[in-house]
Amino acid sequence: MTTPPAIDATGLTKRYRDVVAVDRLDLGVRPGESYALLGLNGAGKTTTIRMLLGLVRPTGGTVSLLGEAVRPAARAVWARVGYLVETPSAYPELTVTENLAAVARLRGLDGDAVPAVLARLGLEPYAARRARTLSLGNAQRLGLAKALIHRPELLVLDEPANGLDPAGVAEIRALLHELAQDGVTVLLSSHILTEVARLAGRIGVLDHGKLVWDGATADLVARARPRLSVTVRDRAAGAEALRAAGYRTGNAAGEEILLTEERAVRRPDDVAALLAGAGCPPTRLAVEQDDLETCFLRLVAAP
Ligand code: ATP
Repeated sequence: MTTPPAIDATGLTKRYRDVVAVDRLDLGVRPGESYALLGLNGAGKTTTIRMLLGLVRPTGGTVSLLGEAVRPAARAVWARVGYLVETPSAYPELTVTENLAAVARLRGLDGDAVPAVLARLGLEPYAARRARTLSLGNAQRLGLAKALIHRPELLVLDEPANGLDPAGVAEIRALLHELAQDGVTVLLSSHILTEVARLAGRIGVLDHGKLVWDGATADLVARARPRLSVTVRDRAAGAEALRAAGYRTGNAAGEEILLTEERAVRRPDDVAALLAGAGCPPTRLAVEQDDLETCFLRLVAAP
């Protein structure tokens, strides 16, 4: 028998009156994969995650996790899934250990679960601290500890890096790498491509509730294409000379001529010589590359 997908959503839709928050989303995540849902604010990430977890009732579509249909009453699957959505909540007057012990009792775990997860999340120095006195980063770690205490096969995190400083983000990254090595499937959401590019092997881009791109992180990164930017005093004459030599000059406004063909990017000296020979020597010539965020924004830009 083949292993079922860790997450399998088909036609997932959520409508709030006249807002379609999630629009016929198909999502498949394989066991062991780390998958990031990427989208701007309001794209539908939180609604999607909440539907996957059975916390929001879909208007349409189906979800199964680890081969089991998601229904609040389907208890068995929740022993294999951990999640952290929105701000982690803890009993503020209880210590870190007491908070974790409460979760362990609810889940019917044995006494070793609490020290094990304290060690794994680096929370031992804070074990006796009341939850309300924790920094944002440590509160987030406590939230993750609660999500991981039962060693789930699937971990779902909504914006896990939100509000964390760079050191906190690096810690989360290290933890997720460790979980990936243990074969845990991770689904997370974010609005920052540069952040998820380092956390996830696959990215789905959500825009207005629709999955507009789904593929390997490396392929998305490769879309940040280089181009040659050329400035000449007489743009029309320069562009004409380039077109006569078979270059596609695009229609960028302003002074600049943009060339995206590989031969232009690889051999800017040929372009310079050609323009000089045509009496339009370049006053500026530069190979430029979009950063990842620009590339992502181009993907979700209104057509
Ligand atoms: P953010 O990063 O800001 O949380 P998001 O990508 O998680 O954004 P969602 O929170 O899923 O996006 O929201 C998607 C859309 O659905 C938004 O237009 C939002 O206003 C709308 N929406 C979400 N929840 C509700 C609700 N309970 N009632 C009405 N509209 C809602």
